[in-house]
Amino acid sequence: MSKTKEAPEFQPSSSAVGEFRNCPPTDFSRRVEREALQEALADARERMPFDAPLLINGRTVETPEKIESLNPSAFKELVARSASASKDHTDEAIKAARAAYRDWSRTSAEERAAIILRAAEMLRERRHHFSAVMVLEAGKPWQEADADTAEAIDFMEYYAREMMRLGSRRRLQPYILGENNDLMYAPLGVVGVIGPWNFPLAIPCGMTCAALAAGNTAILKPAEQTPLITYLWVMLMKEAGIPDGVLNFLPGKGEVCGQRLVEHDEVNMVVFTGSREVGLHIIKGAAETPPSRAFVKRVVTEMGGKNGLIVDSSADLDSSVPDAIYSAFGFAGQKCSACSRLIVLEDVYDEYVKRLVEAAESLKVGLAENPGTQVAPVIDKEAAEKIRSYIEYGKKDAKELFCADLDGLDEEGYFVSPSIFPVDSRDHKLMQEEVFGPVLTVIKAKDFDEALDIANSTQYALTGGVHSRTISN
Ligand code: NDP
Repeated sequence: MSKTKEAPEFQPSSSAVGEFRNCPPTDFSRRVEREALQEALADARERMPFDAPLLINGRTVETPEKIESLNPSAFKELVARSASASKDHTDEAIKAARAAYRDWSRTSAEERAAIILRAAEMLRERRHHFSAVMVLEAGKPWQEADADTAEAIDFMEYYAREMMRLGSRRRLQPYILGENNDLMYAPLGVVGVIGPWNFPLAIPCGMTCAALAAGNTAILKPAEQTPLITYLWVMLMKEAGIPDGVLNFLPGKGEVCGQRLVEHDEVNMVVFTGSREVGLHIIKGAAETPPSRAFVKRVVTEMGGKNGLIVDSSADLDSSVPDAIYSAFGFAGQKCSACSRLIVLEDVYDEYVKRLVEAAESLKVGLAENPGTQVAPVIDKEAAEKIRSYIEYGKKDAKELFCADLDGLDEEGYFVSPSIFPVDSRDHKLMQEEVFGPVLTVIKAKDFDEALDIANSTQYALTGGVHSRTISN
C-alpha cells in the first residue's frame, strides 16, 4: 500500500530476449554430431582424472579428503577426484552466501537473468563436452546425456525469462480511491541445493537457477557419485559473470555438508531431489525452529516414485509396448518416473506380455559410450548390488518372464540385467518397494476399476500413466 510514491506501471518482459523455446535434442543420425561427441569423449578421457575442488566465495578450495568418481561402464577408470567439504567449509560457504545476498538481492531481475542467459548460451556451445563428461561420470548413453544437457539449458532459459516477467513491480487493479496496491516478489535469502546423481546436470542446475534468478544466493551440494559434471557447470556460471559468493559449490558427504545446510540457522531454504528416506529426514530436520532462528525454514523436496502404467483393452499395443519398454529400461530404470508396475487388463494380457518380452529381447545393453547402447550400467556398486538382490528375490518368488544375459559386462562395470517379473498380488515386494533400476513387474487386472485400484495401492504417488483409446477411461 502506498500513498506517496507512484509505482512504475507493470512492464512486460523484454521482447529483446525473445520467447522461451525448448532446446531440441541433438540429431545423432548426422555424422557431424556423432563425430563431435566422439571428439568430446576423447578430449574428456585425455583430461581424466579431472579435479573438482570446492568453490567458496569465488575461490577454489582443495581438501585433504577426496571423493572419487569411477566410470560406471568400466569401474577401473578414475574419472575425477573431487574435494569433500567438511562442516567448517559448509559454514564458510554459508557465510559467503549470506554476505553476497545483500547486493545480489538488490541487483535487478534483468541483470541476474542476463548472467544466467549468457551461461545458457555458453552451455549450448559446449554441449557435447558436458554430455561427454556425463557419459563417463554418470554412465549415461549418448541420447540420455544429451537430453540432460538440453534440459539444463531449458531450465536456465526458462527461469531467467520467468524472473524478468515476474521481476517488475505490478500495480494491482482495481484502484481504490486514495490507495495503490502493488505486487512485487522478494527473495528469501540463502538457499541450500541438494542434488541427485541420476540427472546430475539438469536437476542441480534447475534448482539452483530458480533460486539465483529470484535473487537468492545458493550453496550447491551435488551427489557424491557425480560432483564433476556439477562442478563444470558451476565454473561455467562463474565464467558467465556470477559474482563471488552468490553461487558456492560444496561436493561432500550428505550426512556432513547436506545435513549442515538443513540445520544451519542462516540457510533460509533447502531444495532437494533424491530418495524418500532422505527427503523426509530433511523435512523433519528443517522444521525444527530453535529460538536462534528468525524464520521458518522452507523446504522443497522431490522424492521417489513407483510409477504404475495401466494398459487397457483398447490400447494400441504397437505403440504401447515400445513406450513401456523405454519407460522401464531407459535410463537403466534410474528415474523416479520410470515405469516399474505394468498393470494390464486380462483380455489383452497374454498378447501384451508376449510382445513385451519380444521387445525386451532386442534391448542393447552395453557401455554408455557406445552410440548404439540402449541400457547402460547403473550408477555404482551399491546400487548394482541392491538391484541384483531384488532380481534374485524376483527369480525365486515370481519366476522371470525375461532377464537379459549380460555376457560378462558386469565384471568390468556396474551392469544389472533388465528384468521382467509377473506377479499375482499388488502387495508383492516388487510392486511395493522402489527398485531404482531396470526391473519391471507386470500384473493382471480384471477391469479398468481394478487396474486403477492397483495403481493407487502404493505409498508413492509421484507419476502414473494410462494407455487407452477409450476416452471415458
Ligand atoms: P539420496 O536421497 O541418497 O541422495 C540425494 C542427495 O541427498 C545427495 O546429494 C545426498 O548426498 C544427499 N543426502 C544424503 N543424506 C543427506 C542428509 N542426511 N542430509 C542432507 N542431504 C543428504 O538419493 P540418491 O542419490 O540415492 O538418488 C536416488 C533417489 O532419488 C531415488 O530414490 C529417486 O526416486 C530419487 N529421485 C527423485 C527425483 C524426482 O524428481 N522426484 C529425481 C531423481 C531422483 P550423498 O550423495 O553424499 O549421499
